[in-house]
Amino acid sequence: MSIESFNPHTGRLLRRFTPFAWAKTQRILGQAHRAAPAWAATPFAQRARVLRRAAELLRERQNVLARLMALEMGKPITDGRAEALKCATCCDYYAEHAEAFLADELVKTDAGRSFISYQPLGVVLAVMPWNFPFWQVVRFAAPALMAGNVGLLKHASNVPQCALALEKIFHDAGLPPACFRTLLVDSDQVAQLLADDRVRAVTLTGSEGAGMAVAAVAGQHIKKAVLELGGSDPFIVLADADLALAAKTAAQSRMINSGQSCIAAKRFIVEKSVCREFINQLKTHLLALRPGDPLDEATQYGPLARPDLADELTKQVGDSVTKGAKIELHGGQAKPGTALFRPMILSNIKPGQRAYAEELFGPVALVLEAKNADDAVRLANDSRFGLGAAVWTGDAKKGEAMARQIESGAVFVNGLVKSMPELPFGGVKKSGYGRELSYLGIREFVNQKSIWVG
Ligand code: NDP
Repeated sequence: MSIESFNPHTGRLLRRFTPFAWAKTQRILGQAHRAAPAWAATPFAQRARVLRRAAELLRERQNVLARLMALEMGKPITDGRAEALKCATCCDYYAEHAEAFLADELVKTDAGRSFISYQPLGVVLAVMPWNFPFWQVVRFAAPALMAGNVGLLKHASNVPQCALALEKIFHDAGLPPACFRTLLVDSDQVAQLLADDRVRAVTLTGSEGAGMAVAAVAGQHIKKAVLELGGSDPFIVLADADLALAAKTAAQSRMINSGQSCIAAKRFIVEKSVCREFINQLKTHLLALRPGDPLDEATQYGPLARPDLADELTKQVGDSVTKGAKIELHGGQAKPGTALFRPMILSNIKPGQRAYAEELFGPVALVLEAKNADDAVRLANDSRFGLGAAVWTGDAKKGEAMARQIESGAVFVNGLVKSMPELPFGGVKKSGYGRELSYLGIREFVNQKSIWVG
């Protein structure tokens, strides 16, 4: 795939970049590897100053960054600003807490003194997707840089300008340039990079296919990998829930980033007695949303990031409808090859349909009817994925008990599933492994070294 900035709203090519030749990538890798020891030896306070400055720049440049996201991947401009601000919060969070998260931990043993020391690994490669082109990267970079690692970014081929803008932010914030570089490379260079001993670890956010390919190569070369892959998050609504709030939040969750979020609610598992009313309310909320040009302040959802993603979603819906899914809300693509996809609701979702088994990465809400709470948990867990989940009930204790039974990396009771710096983020099953954010995230790319002193 070529590296192209392509506006999915207008269908126009914005910029085309020539991918780096392998020799250039190797030169940058060499610089990063040579810069790593000095950055690892830089005191936390100094690293924190860089991250705090990066946070300021993210805030100062929020309009420019939001415009870039709108142009390259169709994110509504108001959502883009929010993303830039969230990145700033994450940089500040790790600037504030990294030193404490990575402080030596004394452990009582037969030694005079023994402890766990957390030390950086060196060059970490980040393979990132286009859906949150700044947040996905910062969520990796802020803790990794604060831990004393250096980062190389292979961003998705459709967001090169976002990738370069983030690189510039870190450089302008005072990070030695070699400590964070954007590689404008095709995905086939990822395997070559992982084969190089100077790359110590890899993190990937994206599809199951990309995760499998990258983790296999990482395994071959004994490299640590963190994978944050897709999800088909359940959103359980019990009969005793605040239905109006649940339906409103359901629409909001399904439509995060025009439906293209790994932790968007995708399967709405609703107790039978309230199912019809839930569908009616969800429909009202979805129909009230305003599509349009992502650069327009009033736009609430834009096109999908690429026309091929909308084509694929149409195929998933078509397969499911052929196999018995019922269309409750008509929407979708106006014609193949166009990126706008209007929200849809499908019910009667059954095993054998693509919608039952696969992630639908766009604004299609799947409604599954549950007999009771146990049946809802059974349906929630009948998925290859396990990223996030939500439970809506008037009985918070019951919600908490159900949360413990659900196979996922996070469960929110009576709330919108979201990521935040304080809580770990990641999945189980085909949603991946490892954790980002919180103190767990910063401990993924460190040598957890035991030191025993007699
Ligand atoms: P991909 O998973 O293909 O892309 C994510 C990143 O991985 C990109 O940087 C991509 O590079 C890279 N990549 C892809 N294949 C390989 C490989 N074999 N080796 C090394 N790197 C690779 O996402 P798509 O854009 O194709 O989206 C397809 C689907 O992925 C979506 O419909 C959705 O289901 C899922 N997805 C999930 C996301 C999440 O947040 N969990 C985010 C984005 C997508 P390049 O762009 O150059 O191919």
